[in-house]
Amino acid sequence: MVQLSERSAAIIERLRQLRAADAATHGGRVLSYVYDPGLAELDELAAQAMRLMQPVNGLDPTVFPSVAALERELVGFAARMLHGDETTVGTVTSGGTESCMLAVKTAREGWAARPERSPASRARIVAPVTVHAAFHKAAAYFGLDLDLVPVDADGVVAAGDIAARFGTDVALVVVSAPGYPFGVLDPVAEVAAAAARAGIPCHVDACIGGFALPWWGGVPAWDLAVGGVTSISADLHKFGYAPKGASVLLQRDRDRQRRQYFAIADWPGYPVVNPTLLGSKSATALAAAWAIVQQLGVDGFAELVASCRRSTEQLRAHIDGLAGLRVVGEPIGPLLAVATDDGELKRSRVDPHRWADRVAELGFTLQLQPGFAQSDGTRLPRTTHLTITPVTEQRLPELTEALTRAAADVRGKPPADPRLTVRALRLTGALRRELTADRAQALLRRLGVGRPGAGTTLPERMAPLMALIEQLPSEFTERLLIEVLARQVEAPSESTPGR
Ligand SMILES: *Cc1c(COP(=O)(O)O)cnc(C)c1O
Repeated sequence: MVQLSERSAAIIERLRQLRAADAATHGGRVLSYVYDPGLAELDELAAQAMRLMQPVNGLDPTVFPSVAALERELVGFAARMLHGDETTVGTVTSGGTESCMLAVKTAREGWAARPERSPASRARIVAPVTVHAAFHKAAAYFGLDLDLVPVDADGVVAAGDIAARFGTDVALVVVSAPGYPFGVLDPVAEVAAAAARAGIPCHVDACIGGFALPWWGGVPAWDLAVGGVTSISADLHKFGYAPKGASVLLQRDRDRQRRQYFAIADWPGYPVVNPTLLGSKSATALAAAWAIVQQLGVDGFAELVASCRRSTEQLRAHIDGLAGLRVVGEPIGPLLAVATDDGELKRSRVDPHRWADRVAELGFTLQLQPGFAQSDGTRLPRTTHLTITPVTEQRLPELTEALTRAAADVRGKPPADPRLTVRALRLTGALRRELTADRAQALLRRLGVGRPGAGTTLPERMAPLMALIEQLPSEFTERLLIEVLARQVEAPSESTPGR
């Protein structure tokens, strides 16, 4: 190994210091974003695999055949677990969003090639409203309409409501296994059958469930065993425990998958053939994911999923036993959402966002999800989301105690009420004026997001911010959030207005 110079060692030391400010990636204190199997050996194995792959360009597997070999074996494993057959093909992508986007791109090309399509029409995607934001992104990037079907109060969509939206302009129907917001498994078999009858491809978004549900037990058929399912996304960097940057997109047959590719030989440079969105790309996450799958094998996955299932069941029972809170619907898989139990008297109710803020003070980070108004006028409740990983089991006593204590501490407290703030924004005309970067920043300061002298930072307590998000027009919120994120990366400026 090369010995680092003093200068290089100092650079690494600086990185170490920066990393110290991050959320904990290990140990089960953050119940979203990170998926910790609690096995230190897997981290070391992944690190060595990544190191070996570090200089490789994943752009061209004919020049770097190792990339093709790893991808072939990973896709093969996913296809076996998800009941593919000899016609199943697949691609390793950089993550769930890319897998979903490529499923949409593939469907759009297929739709454009259909003779009966009317040249003037735009393609449409039909999906339950709980479909992941990645499909909003895909629709926006690739110019399709996203037709969202309302779900019931438990997050369940009626297959008939989806089929009722089918038409010649529909390029793709998407169902989730399970959906991220509430952990609900969509009616895959019914929707896929209706889609097949209508000649519409059906994508199953199993980004979060793809490497957990095969070992969960008692799950209705949802994968390639279901006729009519044409593609599946499954993230290796979630319950495949790989470092970020790895997901699989399986396609039922070759001809369909070839539409996923982009190829151009007609320019003055080298011929470009890309199955994914990127050109030159790292193969490090691919190598790490491959190594982890080799090491775990079917039995290793089964053990880790069994642990997730035990923890999920205990947490679900525990939370349902807390007065004023309830688990939404019938989640399947290692995730669940918690809402206020409106059946209780006001003084016994627990606002899930105040609860999450209090739980954070007690050392565990949960994910806040705002309430949502559906197109049919019904509202989905604001919730707090928990993703359960194998390491959760070691933390269960501490975690359940924090959940109980936090509920006791905020029980009876009404949800944050941003109505005065919203009215003030209306009165000043802020909601009507175009938000420039400076105006957005000044507004954020007024709303208490950000601290003087530094880039914009989120407040300690998220409940008031989420309540505000629920009340403001979504385009306005989105623009403000863009400002928050953009300012994170910018140098703090002395001339920032609003200070
Ligand atoms: C995480 C997730 C995605 C998006 O995946 P990223 O890896 O974050 O890009 C899509 N769909 C579902 C259901 C997910 O859970």
